[in-house]
Amino acid sequence: MAEYSGFDDWFEMPGGEDFVDVTDVLVAGARDMESEEVLLMDGFTLMDAMSAFEIGEPRLDSGMILEEQRRPPFDPLTPLLPEEVCWILDRSFACEMEWHTGKTLSQSVFTLLFVHHLPDINPEYLPPEEFEDPTRPRWLITVVIRAAILGLLKCCDLAWRELSKNRVHDVEDWQGEKCDVSLLEGVNAEVISRILDMACDWLRQSQFPETQVAALCDRLLLRKAILQLYRYNFLNDTAQARVEIAASLGLLHRVRGSQPEVSPGSPALLAMDPYIARRLPNFMPIRVTELPSQDKTWDMLQVFLEYWQEVVHLVTSPSLLTWEVAGALRFALRRSVPPPFHRSLVQSLFFDNNAVLGSHQLGWLVEHFYEETIGIPYTTILKAIERSTPQPEMASMRDVIERRIIKIMIPHVRSNWFNPPRRRRHLMKDVLQWHQLYDMLLKDIEHYQPPDERTAQILRAIPQAAQLRRLSTSREIILSGFQQELYAPEEKPIAYWYLTRILDVHIGCIEDLLPIIPTDTPTFCELLFQAEHLSALQMISTTLVALTAASITSPWHRISLNFLRRYKWVFKTEFDALVPVKPEPDLLAFPDSLKQFLLDELYSPSASLQLARDILSHLAESPHDWVGHWAPDRREYLRSLAEACNNLGRIAPASLRELAGFNLAPLKWIPDHRSSVIVLSNTTTTISFQFLGTLLNFANLSSSTGMKRKSSLVSRPSPYHTAVTLFEAGEGAVETVVRRSKRLKTGLTTETPVSEPVETEKHAVGEDLPLNTPVKSSKKITTTIKLEEAEESTTVAPATAAIAGPSKVRRTPPRWRETYDAIKRMRSRIVAPVDTMGCDQAQLKETDPKSQRFSTLVSLMLSSQTKDEVTDAAVAKLREAVGGSLSVDAILQADESAISEAICKVGFWRRKTQYIKQAAQKLHDEFDGDVPKTADELCSLPGVGPKMAFLALQVAWKINAGIGVDVHVHRITNRLGWHKPPTKTPEETRVVVMSPSLNLQSWLPVELHAEINHLLVGFGQTICLPVGPKCGECELGDGSCPSARKVVKASSSKKRTKVTSTRGTPSGRPKIEVELEEDTKLLVQVVPPNAPELEETPLDENAGVKAGDLS
Ligand code: SF4
Repeated sequence: MAEYSGFDDWFEMPGGEDFVDVTDVLVAGARDMESEEVLLMDGFTLMDAMSAFEIGEPRLDSGMILEEQRRPPFDPLTPLLPEEVCWILDRSFACEMEWHTGKTLSQSVFTLLFVHHLPDINPEYLPPEEFEDPTRPRWLITVVIRAAILGLLKCCDLAWRELSKNRVHDVEDWQGEKCDVSLLEGVNAEVISRILDMACDWLRQSQFPETQVAALCDRLLLRKAILQLYRYNFLNDTAQARVEIAASLGLLHRVRGSQPEVSPGSPALLAMDPYIARRLPNFMPIRVTELPSQDKTWDMLQVFLEYWQEVVHLVTSPSLLTWEVAGALRFALRRSVPPPFHRSLVQSLFFDNNAVLGSHQLGWLVEHFYEETIGIPYTTILKAIERSTPQPEMASMRDVIERRIIKIMIPHVRSNWFNPPRRRRHLMKDVLQWHQLYDMLLKDIEHYQPPDERTAQILRAIPQAAQLRRLSTSREIILSGFQQELYAPEEKPIAYWYLTRILDVHIGCIEDLLPIIPTDTPTFCELLFQAEHLSALQMISTTLVALTAASITSPWHRISLNFLRRYKWVFKTEFDALVPVKPEPDLLAFPDSLKQFLLDELYSPSASLQLARDILSHLAESPHDWVGHWAPDRREYLRSLAEACNNLGRIAPASLRELAGFNLAPLKWIPDHRSSVIVLSNTTTTISFQFLGTLLNFANLSSSTGMKRKSSLVSRPSPYHTAVTLFEAGEGAVETVVRRSKRLKTGLTTETPVSEPVETEKHAVGEDLPLNTPVKSSKKITTTIKLEEAEESTTVAPATAAIAGPSKVRRTPPRWRETYDAIKRMRSRIVAPVDTMGCDQAQLKETDPKSQRFSTLVSLMLSSQTKDEVTDAAVAKLREAVGGSLSVDAILQADESAISEAICKVGFWRRKTQYIKQAAQKLHDEFDGDVPKTADELCSLPGVGPKMAFLALQVAWKINAGIGVDVHVHRITNRLGWHKPPTKTPEETRVVVMSPSLNLQSWLPVELHAEINHLLVGFGQTICLPVGPKCGECELGDGSCPSARKVVKASSSKKRTKVTSTRGTPSGRPKIEVELEEDTKLLVQVVPPNAPELEETPLDENAGVKAGDLS
């Protein structure tokens, strides 16, 4: 070739002009080589060679058989003892199970050499044997082994047919290459079933001992039973299917009890050849693998049979969400992903032939979608649409809804039986689909005109169904990233952070739905469960944000690039045209959000985990009727997750100040295919954290009672759980938490370098620290922590403390005491409605202590959204309506209509009627007819929230468990500037565990907790009114109150003024523009300290009045 100059222009030969043909050298070298010898050229080491083999071993396999791999030729008719036949039959099951794990047939089934010698052992083609050894009759091979091999191949054939339906994917999930070996495709399974029966007959008529006959027959019958299961139509007769599966499991149990042993020189061993793939035509290179041990084989077979059981349960549970839970629990419980055969079978059974479960029309999906997601029957939705729109539009809407939902739901449910990577990819597309549906529904309902509030509520709930699916799908994607170990260490805090945000919105979405779902429906119970479950997960993920934050070491611009890449599924351009929904990952928000969170002095990682543990443990014991067969699995999952929280909570820091001393290094993730496990290497503590893997599919079905805890990461408090009080009480609570966690026994010793004086030492424990006082950090802190339970001390290496601060300093609003005393003085001079008609008055009309407490509770329940005067009158009327005494029994005996009539003047009287009835029933059934003594128990009553619970405890039991914060307390404390930044809800005002805002329970002395509600409510009813506070009469109007309004005289009546404010609008555009036409002589102006003057635009020359934030 080198001589052909025509190539010179095209190719540059190796060595260029010096190219030499070395073929002869190689031939000569080969002549000098010994068999199995390796020659290495200069610079090419043995390690290089091993790497080459490791990387491409099957392709580099020359086919050469080493000495130790040489085997005598296999003679299929070599006589065998019954126990040797037993052993071969057992290995046939091992081959089959190995194939179902995703190996090729040539790595598994075809390694059993009898598969390739069926014609050689067919008795019809064999002459009679002249000298037969009675202990090793040939018919053991020609009848027994042959029947078993036929059964094995037919089982493989039937499985192959299901697997090749494209529900699961060849090469990805299973291996379909047959290497030109027959799987008896043309043979009827019934014929093989009869052959297996005949083999059993032969055995029973033989002279072998009974135990040997039984052992062989059991194996043949087990093969026959499995063959029958492959043939079974699970939609036809599920009862019979259960019987068949139970019989198979029974046979398996018997087979396991008779394990044969073969000697090392047994000819039976020759029946297995792991290198058979070298002699078969393979599509792709095949690595030689080992079959599982027999014990493991039986375990695998048992699981395989149990998955058939699960299929039966699935097809007899016509519920979309149950299917999803069942699919997801496989991951959450660290069980193996179902074999591809069962994953394919489930998909076929559900959706073959355009029908659900072989009999339901596709519209069935739509009905279940709404009923199970938002608890509203589809017929009710259609009626609501009908009432709100002309008929033609309704038909159009219905058609669009149904087609879109069916289109999304079928693959969505199916994806639970995809392999994990494929499922993740599918969910990434699903998010967009759910969002598009949400967007479409949102826009559609805008055109309707509901005739009443109930109809409007139903219409508003329609898009929420899609929103819930979108949120749960997003959550799944994030968690699947953990399961599949996709996140680099620096990505984990971001993943947890984003998860926290999604859970936040999800819980809020559920809370919005709960009020419109009838409380006695399974959906209501399930959504409550979901709320609690998601809240616990939110606590865990929030804690993990803190614990993993230190792993971020790269510059933000670099991390953000990874972020964009990892979350490309939320940055698709298609989203731009849709209604924006939260949470969209806001890249720029993450650094600030994290920084703010890490400065939260009240947040305790260990307490957060302990609280999550308590919630999960509680959930594990609560009823789980919805998920039926999977209820024990769900409990197991919850307990397992609770235990993980407990274990991690024991070693997590008690506060963020200690974070610097927390060493993440000993914790490492151990991939386990299905889950992740944290092992603390220097102790025996093992924390299984399968939640990081998957758990959350299953949260679809269930989810959330929330916590009222909010952090800078959590924007929404939940009214369904008060357990947050564990965290809330500021300094005291933190101390309590520390004790709970058993984290610190003798203390935490903090050493600081001499050169770095610690500012915190200037503050005594419990000392008030003005809000504005900067919390100075020490540069380095060495923390010694004694683990009380482990009875050992661990000295954590010095670490840079980025967030260290004073350990026990209470921050308070400046000069709060003077303000408080001033209000007290004012209150002493006035009588407010709450003084004569508050909830504490209701008990005065009762004599029985239980009735006194109950009447207090009823008064509180009626008081929400209602003036004290109206509430007081309603309580009196209700007492009269139920016979003169407001007791639990009296309410239970009263008609709902009588109660409704009595309280019809209060807000939401219909719902309150139901709540009072239900609460009375619950008190009667669970609390001996009395008001319970804890906030948690009180909040378990319908219609009772934290505020009512704390007030009820204070008035009825004289128990001071927390501050009852209502709208008056919320408004006034914000006006006084006691919360920075201002709080948005009463519950946030009371306490939010992770909020950067000061909240009342964090600093107000405990002895004032009981009185502050009464004090401020009366103040708010008489002076600091919601609209038009009487600052002129208020002692604080002299400048002590930042919201004080100045009294300004108007020059004349009837003025027309245009008032414009530009405050608070970054763009500078006018925020408020109000035209006033007043007869009054006085107008007011809000002049907060340091606030810029408002821009004023008079409409006429007489308008000299300034106005402020009139909004
Ligand atoms: S000065 Fe005005 S706003 Fe401030 S507390 Fe008094 S009444 Fe309320």
